[in-house]
Amino acid sequence: MPTVTRFAPSPTGYLHLGHAYSACLAARAAGPDGTFLLRLEDIDSTRCTEDFCAAVSEDLHWLGLRWPQPVRRQSQHLADYAHAISALTDQGLLYPCFCTRKEILAEIGDIHRAPHGPDGPLYPGTCRHRSPAERADRIAAGEAYALRLDMTEARRRVSSPLRWHDAEAGWQTATPDLFGDVVLARKDTPTSYHLAVTLDDALQGVTLITRGTDLFAATHIHRLLQALFDLPVPDYAHHPLLCGPDGKRYAKRDLSLTLRALRADGITPAQVRLRLGLS
Ligand code: GLU
Repeated sequence: MPTVTRFAPSPTGYLHLGHAYSACLAARAAGPDGTFLLRLEDIDSTRCTEDFCAAVSEDLHWLGLRWPQPVRRQSQHLADYAHAISALTDQGLLYPCFCTRKEILAEIGDIHRAPHGPDGPLYPGTCRHRSPAERADRIAAGEAYALRLDMTEARRRVSSPLRWHDAEAGWQTATPDLFGDVVLARKDTPTSYHLAVTLDDALQGVTLITRGTDLFAATHIHRLLQALFDLPVPDYAHHPLLCGPDGKRYAKRDLSLTLRALRADGITPAQVRLRLGLS
């Protein structure tokens, strides 16, 4: 089966050297017979802009990468995610969460003592036990709510061990329980990163997911969602994050290291690849 890989940035800034590394690794992993896809994960309408979307394609093109058209933009498929959310709701796996960030922090109390997951303090479960009547009233009153996965129930439905393979770290047994009741649909949009990325990778036939180790832990949740939606399980290759000379990982705020700043400085794509150790 030919390999299908993808680079799936969130267009909330200009691409930097770290993105270039990730994109080039994904393209290389597809090999001559495989397919490398670009996907724009632009569900955050407050931070993603048309300018950043256009810049992603332009910068990767400059770097010498090519991919099939049309590019999937998650913002154009919100109805698909809403449909998947309804399916989980119908199965009784989601519950509305009305909490604000402030309320969650207040409920948690002493943050240092609170139980933590890989993403920080766990959601304390405030809205998990609200009565159907209270939920209905608050929704009818127009109160904003996110939808959280009832992790205990979800785990009960797929009790067999969930395994996935990472090219660097080897076989893993998923432990999504460690994350608690994650948000699958945000207050402002009928999806979250976890839901959209899992559905899209399956929909687009991605067989090998390459991305930075910062998303390694998220794979535990994605593996659970694959089981809940009965989706194929791709292979994974989480790569180390590139660091600048100061030892800190590249970030969107490092404007001097954006591909467009480098290009403006007269750096060539070949020099970028050399700098990334990829030529
Ligand atoms: N859109 C995510 C990000 O920019 C990455 C998605 C993925 O590779 O799974 O951080």
